[in-house]
Amino acid sequence: MAPVPARAYIGLGANLGDGAATLRQVLAELRGLEGVVAVKASPFYRSAPVEAAGPDFINAVAAVDTHLAPLALLDALQALENRHGRQRPYKNAPRTLDLDLLLYGDVAMDHERLSLPHPRMHLRAFVLLPLRDLAPGLVLKGRNIDDWVGEIRDQAIERA
Ligand code: AMP
Repeated sequence: MAPVPARAYIGLGANLGDGAATLRQVLAELRGLEGVVAVKASPFYRSAPVEAAGPDFINAVAAVDTHLAPLALLDALQALENRHGRQRPYKNAPRTLDLDLLLYGDVAMDHERLSLPHPRMHLRAFVLLPLRDLAPGLVLKGRNIDDWVGEIRDQAIERA
């Protein structure tokens, strides 16, 4: 086990059922994972689906300090999704729970199961706003997160 945990950021979203209750439960489950040292949650947001159908999403970002390696952390996130009854009847279908590994320290990788940083995170208001709450001044792809937020157009989002 590495002596110093890595800081990962995870995007959480739910648009079926009681999304806020689901996210609160998932945050508790993240805190209970073996190999997870600390979890800090952003405020919750409500956002209209982007390239997806169905009701509004409840979104948040979690800062997770962990000894789990990137793929082991992804395994744990997918197990949580499955536990919350996620089904994939078609691409971008409504989902009870969607967990994305956004960042894992400074790791850049393009594995068949895991791309880091998450390739679309810098374009999505529902990621950028809660991420900025946790990490103001963060630099993504060489630009400050405020600059990416300033480029957002036509993505309805508000604090939940
Ligand atoms: P989705 O259905 O949108 O949640 O996409 C899940 C798929 O994306 C899975 O097959 C993952 O292995 C893959 N994937 C690639 N990179 C990532 C990432 N950074 N976070 C979460 N899933 C990822």
